[in-house]
Amino acid sequence: MNAPNKSGWKPEMTPDTAAAVPTATGNRALMLEEPLIFEIGGSETTGVDLPEPSEGANRLGGMARTEPFGLPGLSEPETVRHYTRLSRQNYAIDLGLFPLGSCTMKHNPRLNEKVARMPGFADVHPLQPVDTVRGALEVINELAHWLIELTGMHGVAMTPKAGAHGELCGILCIRAALEAKGDARKVILVPESAHGTNPATAAFAGYAVEDIPATPEGRVDLEALKARLGPDVAGVMITNPNTCGLFERDMKAISDAVHAAGGYVYCDGANFNAIVGRVRPGDLGVDAMHINLHKTFSTPHGGGGPGSGPVVLSEALAPYGPLPFTARRPDGTVDLIEEENAGEEHPLSFGRMSAFHGQMGMFTRALAYILSHGADGLRQVSGDAVLNANYLLRSLEDVLDAPFAFSGPCMHEALFSDRGFADGLTTLDLAKGMIDEGFHPMTMYFPLVVHGSMLVEPTETESKAGLDQLVVALRSLAERARAGDMSLKNAPIHAPRRRLDETLAARKPVLAWSEPDVPAGHPTRSEQGGS
Ligand SMILES: *Cc1c(COP(=O)(O)O)cnc(C)c1O
Repeated sequence: MNAPNKSGWKPEMTPDTAAAVPTATGNRALMLEEPLIFEIGGSETTGVDLPEPSEGANRLGGMARTEPFGLPGLSEPETVRHYTRLSRQNYAIDLGLFPLGSCTMKHNPRLNEKVARMPGFADVHPLQPVDTVRGALEVINELAHWLIELTGMHGVAMTPKAGAHGELCGILCIRAALEAKGDARKVILVPESAHGTNPATAAFAGYAVEDIPATPEGRVDLEALKARLGPDVAGVMITNPNTCGLFERDMKAISDAVHAAGGYVYCDGANFNAIVGRVRPGDLGVDAMHINLHKTFSTPHGGGGPGSGPVVLSEALAPYGPLPFTARRPDGTVDLIEEENAGEEHPLSFGRMSAFHGQMGMFTRALAYILSHGADGLRQVSGDAVLNANYLLRSLEDVLDAPFAFSGPCMHEALFSDRGFADGLTTLDLAKGMIDEGFHPMTMYFPLVVHGSMLVEPTETESKAGLDQLVVALRSLAERARAGDMSLKNAPIHAPRRRLDETLAARKPVLAWSEPDVPAGHPTRSEQGGS
């Protein structure tokens, strides 16, 4: 199918391989089928070749294992091939565009990796004496400085280990600040356009969560919010840019109203990549905001690495931030403020978010990213992220319903819906079709405010040529969905696995392998192995 497209990019046509004759092995060209590791290695075989241990005194006190425990024995090359074959069936940002809305799946510059692997950073141990890790503390402090600078805030808690962990940290700061005033407010307001982790965090911290409706433009309804404020409201949690990919223009008015009512403003800043270098949340009256280093500051995430969610804090909340943190001393050295020495300097801390000092590998990557981009580079990051998303929005809005496109440009992600698809075809069918076209699907059915939503975030690291390929794929799929091409129901047809029953997989997951039933008279694998 050769889709018309605006850019003139034309995929080279290949014969339809879907109809190709199955192979004897199940392999398709150099894409190899791979059974489970339990199916290729039995407990009767082993990958190591060591002599039997000589008879010696058994000191296990009768606890020695008598049954084989059923781990598959494979040789080293068998093991390496098993995992390499599986990895080739995976999709990764190093393979292609990964348009998962809200997730910011962007290229991680290799310079970051080089810095993170420097032995002085990579090999430090969190229990090393402070005097032996001054350089690492210097990096944490320097990164903290730039996060405060970029957000216009007062302090930063570096230890939270993900966005949602940062939200919890911020809400605990708000609770500590209220408790210090003897104020037992119990309600957190969360707009419909907020990320799902926001109400989850507030509920987890023991607050009653109340919805604030969105305007027809997809933004927080300021008047509805003002009407709900009162002496029981501890604060609001607002995602900005919100999950419709839109900037909350009334942020300052929202903050002023919440503060006037005695509450605090939490801002979900996971998608700071849309505004970095252009807007400082501190200037908008935000009291606490997490930054996902693993999104905005490019460190790999998802299957590729851990997260890191530092929380910047206003002057009102900073005294309640968690331990430990770094501080520069008058003599120029950077010190670690922990329970032992926090008494005088930081007596109001609500406690700890994690055992040690945060994700060192994420800190080194993020600082390398910030310093190598510089002020002008970071401004260009947000500019390019927004430009790329708007390029997609305008390249697709004639074939995919874009519910908020009327209200102006989007931020870092473009939101579409399934309106206009033929009866029986859904967002899920289009998303599965993307796999056949060689793209990871976009975020779907989120945000909830739009029916059959598709949230597409190209990120700033994609070239125009890369975006044009995505546009070709999405235009073709959208046209098929509008025309009622029911073959989309079978997608993906080219993937190593066809469409799964996702409901069954979620409701009744099979989490352990058990040996298949063997016809009577045939020894099972463990019987073959003996002990
Ligand atoms: C990714 C994201 C989060 C959660 O971050 P994690 O690191 O996955 O916990 C929260 N809010 C928004 C808007 C996000 O995009």
